[in-house]
Amino acid sequence: PVKEVTDVQTIKTTCAYCGVGCGIQATVSHSQRTVAVKGDPEHPANFGRLCSKGSALAETLDLSSRLLEPQIYGRTASWDDALTLVASKFQQVIEEHGPEAVAFYGSGQLLTEDYYVANKLMKGFLGSGNMDTNSRLCMSSSVSGHKRAFGSDTVPNCYEDYEHTDLIVLVGSNTAWCHPVSFQRIRQAKENNPNLKVVVIDPRKTDSCDIADLHVPVKVGSDVALFNGLLAYLYQENALDQDYINQHTEGFDQAIQAAQLDAFNVATVAEKCRLAPHVVEIFYRWFKETNKTLTLYSQGVNQSSSGSDKVNAIINCHLATGRIGKEGAGPFSLTGQPNAMGGREVGGLATQLAEHMEFSEQDRDIVQRFWQSDNVTDKPGLPAVDLFDAVANGKIKAIWIMATNPVVSLPNADKVKQALQQCEFVVVSDCVAHTDTLDLAHVKLPAAGWSEKDGTVTNSERRISRQRALLPLAGNAKPDWWIITQVARKMGFENAFPYETPADVFREHARFSGFENSPEQRLRSFNISGLAEITDEQYQSFPPTQWPIVSSDALQDINNFENTKRLFAEGGFFTPTRKAKFVAVEHRAPQNAPDADWPLILNTGRLRDQWHTMTRTGLSARLNQHKPEPFVEITPADAQANGLEQGQLALIESQWGKMLARVTVTDRIAQGEIFVPMHWTAQFSSHSRMGGVVNPVVDPVSFQPESKHTPVRISAFSAA
Ligand code: SF4
Repeated sequence: PVKEVTDVQTIKTTCAYCGVGCGIQATVSHSQRTVAVKGDPEHPANFGRLCSKGSALAETLDLSSRLLEPQIYGRTASWDDALTLVASKFQQVIEEHGPEAVAFYGSGQLLTEDYYVANKLMKGFLGSGNMDTNSRLCMSSSVSGHKRAFGSDTVPNCYEDYEHTDLIVLVGSNTAWCHPVSFQRIRQAKENNPNLKVVVIDPRKTDSCDIADLHVPVKVGSDVALFNGLLAYLYQENALDQDYINQHTEGFDQAIQAAQLDAFNVATVAEKCRLAPHVVEIFYRWFKETNKTLTLYSQGVNQSSSGSDKVNAIINCHLATGRIGKEGAGPFSLTGQPNAMGGREVGGLATQLAEHMEFSEQDRDIVQRFWQSDNVTDKPGLPAVDLFDAVANGKIKAIWIMATNPVVSLPNADKVKQALQQCEFVVVSDCVAHTDTLDLAHVKLPAAGWSEKDGTVTNSERRISRQRALLPLAGNAKPDWWIITQVARKMGFENAFPYETPADVFREHARFSGFENSPEQRLRSFNISGLAEITDEQYQSFPPTQWPIVSSDALQDINNFENTKRLFAEGGFFTPTRKAKFVAVEHRAPQNAPDADWPLILNTGRLRDQWHTMTRTGLSARLNQHKPEPFVEITPADAQANGLEQGQLALIESQWGKMLARVTVTDRIAQGEIFVPMHWTAQFSSHSRMGGVVNPVVDPVSFQPESKHTPVRISAFSAA
């Protein structure tokens, strides 16, 4: 019998946007295809709160903006024809040019199940490592920093620590705009705890400074010197936790030697970081005196040619004081995207294999046996910037881009656009009808959007939450995991891709995470093998839960499962010795220095009310009111020196490209620096893409682009 669907239903799901991962209670009217959203009071990430973006989700569901049918070379096609063409073309390219000639480029918008299937097909069966993601632009420096220090990509702390700490240090993180619900929690914690101090380390005086007790306007790119100086200061002040260092860490001597050479005293730090000495002194003293210190960091740290070193400089200070994985104390990377973390878990970066495994012989052997494939790649693929360079120089001849818009978001974006224009075969799956990237695709595949997707995401605190389908699939759209599964089957891998539901994929992923994952075999931090036997019903009602989840007892009463809130307070790292590693780092200036031709530094970032390239938030009239057009922040002195006035249109040029933006004169930015938001696309105007200007320099360890530092010049725009 057909189960009757009540017209109005309340369904719990998770927000589509940032890495806070807020729970949502959606009230759905099926007959009218309408959704009303409010914060889920029971979700541990937000306890009922939502920000402007999350609360406007229902305003982005209009079908008029959607891609509703597959298209081949601009013509509507059947799914069967589109999938057959994708499968045969990828197969043909591999036969003629080898597996390195194909690539997938995914997104932190994909669900974990989508990511798992894509990664399995590319790395496990097509035999290429070329599966990278826009998470490379977001947090890959944190991944590298975690792996170097902890032996694994593991976040030690949780959001609850906001309410237990006495000092919050925000580094390169405009939390007020980029993780607004976390910011609301911090503001509330500050009201409840008069001892709680907030330090904001950021070259710009952002809205996060509204609750700051101290703003440290550090020079762009000098964070390593600041934290090396802090380590040296703590050492000189005898403020280290020697027991923790001795019992649970290695490499302290080299790290302190490097720190002292780099930043011996406050005066040296003040000079390198362009700070007033008393500001440095206050920050260092507060850190020294406050056991419960939480350091939150995001893109201002990660998006740098020394991003991995910055992460390790921060972690070094926490290891040296034993302030890690403790209530209210630890280093805490805030991920930008809703499922950047889930992608990392399955191996969605080109520099990972699968399930927190690398490309060693031992790991590859485990993966081959689990997937029962003899074609698992034995080497990393190309990370984002290199991957699109390979498209540009013709080495990659077929690329499939999923749920992201690299023609806008990647650095040197004009080159990315040209690369796709001349590429032999471009497939794009997306939920909307037009993006700058989708418009270049030979095959367009309509993917399920938020409100139709069904699967899991993991937020910054290792918490797996369900995104649930609220509405039927729009038009002929399909879930990403389904689309990739059909292509895999058409390529001859029916047995390895038997999935009929996202729960099928999740069970395999959970089983794999525990496969030979033990101290006797090889210890990996990510382990949810306790969920390997999850039933469809349990998957449907799965509550937000933090990994690791190792015991199958979890499924007996998952609602009362005791989450692992924190890790590493008593050591137990995932290195061979089970000890954390200090990483000796030294300050390196950003790779491209300003000069007479390019005298200003371009800094970039997000706005409060927009998400990525505005494909969804741009649909909300309310959200568009906040900042209706691209703008550039510049100091009064720099504006005057360059002949610019408030409200004028300015031309920003770099060696890589140019863009137009409206001048906003402000003293919230340092002289010599300008700031533009990242969101606008060519659909707004032909010169509104920030990515066209940004330099393609990357961190040598994480391969994350240096989006916060590009030498540029600026002038008044004249249409003539
Ligand atoms: Fe969504 Fe992030 Fe806002 Fe929460 S804070 S509602 S996850 S955008």
